Amino acid sequence: MDLSTPVLEHSDNEFGKTNMHRSDPVERLRHRFYEPLLFLWMLNPARGPTFVQPTINQPSHDFFSQWREFLDCLSWMCDFNHGGKTVSAVAGERTVDGTRFWLASKHESALPHLRDILEKLQLMRMSNPNEMVATARAISESSIALSGDKIKNYCRELSRRLGTIEERDDNTDLLSAISAISIMRDQPLEVCRGALSFPEFRTLDRQIEAMTDVRTPTEWSYLRHYLLRLQSWHKKTAVIVHFAARYPSVLGGCSCEWLQTPGDARLPEKDEKTNLLSALKRMLPNDQQQRATELYDSVGSLRDFNFDAAFAKSFDAKGPSLVVHAEVFLMEHFYWNNLRFLENDRYIGCSKRSCYCCSLYIRYHPGNYVLRPSHGTAWVTWGLPLQAKLEDEVVKKHNLEVLNKVVQHLRRDLLNELEVRFPRRQRPPDSTSAFASLSL
Ligand SMILES: [Zn+2]
Repeated sequence: MDLSTPVLEHSDNEFGKTNMHRSDPVERLRHRFYEPLLFLWMLNPARGPTFVQPTINQPSHDFFSQWREFLDCLSWMCDFNHGGKTVSAVAGERTVDGTRFWLASKHESALPHLRDILEKLQLMRMSNPNEMVATARAISESSIALSGDKIKNYCRELSRRLGTIEERDDNTDLLSAISAISIMRDQPLEVCRGALSFPEFRTLDRQIEAMTDVRTPTEWSYLRHYLLRLQSWHKKTAVIVHFAARYPSVLGGCSCEWLQTPGDARLPEKDEKTNLLSALKRMLPNDQQQRATELYDSVGSLRDFNFDAAFAKSFDAKGPSLVVHAEVFLMEHFYWNNLRFLENDRYIGCSKRSCYCCSLYIRYHPGNYVLRPSHGTAWVTWGLPLQAKLEDEVVKKHNLEVLNKVVQHLRRDLLNELEVRFPRRQRPPDSTSAFASLSL
């Protein structure tokens, strides 16, 4: 089944008025989903990870862990730009001819690169260590050459953070060493090599450990984080090459296909029920409507912020556009086309850790897919993976079943947030690269 045909969110009839409203079950479901999500996003979007992956510095020895890491690393190599526009997901289908790698992304530009990496791995002779080194170098260099935008952004972040740190006698050498890397932003290969051989990590760690509260990220921990990100291409290439050398049969006769993630959509259209009190009342049973009013009253004292106005404004026609995340879109592609996973390992690789909504969607999906590493941030711009196919009754029923469970979970999290009033948490980085070593 082709899931990628985009549809308009608000289809106009001959009178120029929208014909989507809450009497339509899909539109009603979208309201039910986005109202608590938006509120949660305004209150405390950093929900925390629901599942943590082993770090790249703690190698696993079983096939499944290595295969999943291989898929995540391949996805990373296919995600060239910063800011989430080129997020890529990769999964392996078992076919009679060999593994078929599916790449889900918004743009096709990464497909030739993935094909090139797989060809290089197939040609590599494992018996020749020099050839393995040469293959690793070729893959990391071609990936870095395509990722100049991302590397420049990391260098900008390094410079920005350096600018906020006061220079003292005990940190001059460290700051100079980091600065020397960041100013090479137009030479991506040199930047990545510089980060890989950075000699001052121990000194940097001491600066981070000296902070009184390690739960709060400091400029030092961010410097460390971006240096580790700049090492990613070389480190992930090593993972890819070692996997290919250890399991050559996975790549024998392999092929790859591209799956385009759908275009942007919009939040459901605002109507007379689009306000906080009304939304809270719909989240609670009839016998708890008083509780809804009390929670609504308590919102006013939460922060110096007009939640009501911001809530309603987000559902304006000019509100945020929604993006379907690559990993759940690819997951649905496997599900609806009955594709068989390699070694029946129902894992979708991705260039980033999964967000809060993707984690819930995977968790409540009937396909029993493997939970992905997650950063747990609730993005209100999360698009429904099957939005484009909801005119199909079978798809619509499936979508309803999964999302109803997601909505229940969302509501519980929101009500808990409102009642306990957790302090607003800082959003963690969403990269797959070495985040565990960031003192956050
Ligand atoms: Zn996501």
